[in-house]
Amino acid sequence: MIKGFKNAVELDFSVEENRLKMEEAFRQVEAEKGKVYPLIIGGEKIETEKKITSLSPATKEVLGYASSCSRELADKAIQTADEAFLTWSRTPAEERIRCLKRLARLVEQNRFILDAWNVEESGKNWGEADGELCEALDFFNSYAMHMANLDKGLELIPTDEYTKCIYIPIGVGAIIPPWNFPLSICGGMITSALVTGNTVICKPSSDTPIVAYKFVELCLKAGFPEGTVNYIPGAGSEIGDYIVEHPRTRFINFTGSKAVGCRINENAAKVAEGQKWLKRVVAEMGGKNAIIVDSSADIKKAAEGIASSAFTFQGQKCSACSRALVMADVYDELVDEVVKCAKNLKENQGSGASNAPMGPVINKGAYDSITGYIEVARKEGTIVYGGTYSDETGYYIDPTVVRDVDKDARIANEEIFGPVLAIVKVNSFDEALEIANQTEYGLTGSVYSETRENIQKAKVEFQVGNLYFNRKSTAAVVLQHPFGGFNMSGTDAKTGTSDYLTNFLNLKSITEDLN
Ligand code: NAP
Repeated sequence: MIKGFKNAVELDFSVEENRLKMEEAFRQVEAEKGKVYPLIIGGEKIETEKKITSLSPATKEVLGYASSCSRELADKAIQTADEAFLTWSRTPAEERIRCLKRLARLVEQNRFILDAWNVEESGKNWGEADGELCEALDFFNSYAMHMANLDKGLELIPTDEYTKCIYIPIGVGAIIPPWNFPLSICGGMITSALVTGNTVICKPSSDTPIVAYKFVELCLKAGFPEGTVNYIPGAGSEIGDYIVEHPRTRFINFTGSKAVGCRINENAAKVAEGQKWLKRVVAEMGGKNAIIVDSSADIKKAAEGIASSAFTFQGQKCSACSRALVMADVYDELVDEVVKCAKNLKENQGSGASNAPMGPVINKGAYDSITGYIEVARKEGTIVYGGTYSDETGYYIDPTVVRDVDKDARIANEEIFGPVLAIVKVNSFDEALEIANQTEYGLTGSVYSETRENIQKAKVEFQVGNLYFNRKSTAAVVLQHPFGGFNMSGTDAKTGTSDYLTNFLNLKSITEDLN
């Protein structure tokens, strides 16, 4: 069934044509800066008085203003999506798939401008932004393929009766994405719901409302009918609980922090007056991902993998490595190699170059929180590289390597979501596994080892949703490494798969007596 699916290929920006197109896209972005973006409800564009300001994390300049949705307008959006559901849920899957394929085409056609907005709004470099766009395309193409298959229904054993078991859509979904993958996570969450015949309201992250707006516009252009996808930015603290608790909300698809995910899960469990269902919650949350390095590992390769996992996109990937658990006999060598890699990554950081290996962290709140952890790190270990930061122009934090960290230290257990790596010394592989599993999270993990026994042991005992060997813990590819975590990392939804789509479907079993 997977035959014929091909992952999208990232652009090579060393090719002059690509570089020039990207520069042109940045000129277009420049010309659009400061614009006001309305809500989109039932296709109607509504400007509100209250605005959310989108700021560049690299320069703090204003990129644009998103209208902020009130509770009244959020209610209107949910009612609108509810009405649209009546028709969309009965629209043949074939037509829904056609819209999704057309959307993939439009995203490809708008590739450079979407990449450029992503760079500006999330602070990614060009390669990271285009990698994200490829992931988005992979989600759209895989969901189109899976839906065509699910539309055949469940295979049953033949009987004398006429029997059928079909997948049907469930209702209005509240889509609540994070800022760190404003195109692929937001887009994947929206399209998985739409292609399965549901309708959505999307409350994007307050840090990246423009990328989400551009995407929703493309959804409408692709032919998803007005009302099926509604765009309602607003502070999570103001309208978040409201949309989650609304009686017509049928499911919530959330990706973000553990704290907000737990709150949503709790709020969604309450049955509101007039509510006729138990809400489904898909919640993909944080991580405290570990990479284990044993004595038999290729140390240079391990160091490169650790540094890349810990510091690219400033450590702001849920899959980022933030703990390295290293055997004592290779500890010093590994630390030295990681420091060398961190030095290379720092090149051009803070220069304002949007294509430097490392850029800014997302906002002042993140900057304050991460630098606070760096101050904790000074007490909990020895900073051997980095530990320096500046918010003079944008929110820049140097890649920070901390050695001699105790396994129970805060920086070895709490999600920092920034470029801070704690390196813990271990005396055995068993001890490494025990420490790796001691956090409440269970998202990604890697092991660098040439010892089969250790590899086999980790396959069974390392409790994470995405486990890698002799490879970094980031850069999961759709349908190669289905993504989703255990424990407090979430509901293990495994994005990009057919299983993922069944979160937004009911199975209806139909039987007719033929006598
Ligand atoms: P966040 O603070 O939890 O926000 C996520 C979304 O929830 C935002 O749209 C936010 O809106 C909204 N929100 C806030 N309060 C809410 C409430 N009471 N009810 C409903 N929605 C509410 O997370 P973030 O800072 O955007 O993203 C970083 C986190 O996401 C990290 O923990 C990272 O590990 C995790 N993450 C996980 C995955 C995964 O696949 N497991 C992928 C990416 C990121 P506002 O922006 O308006 O506050």
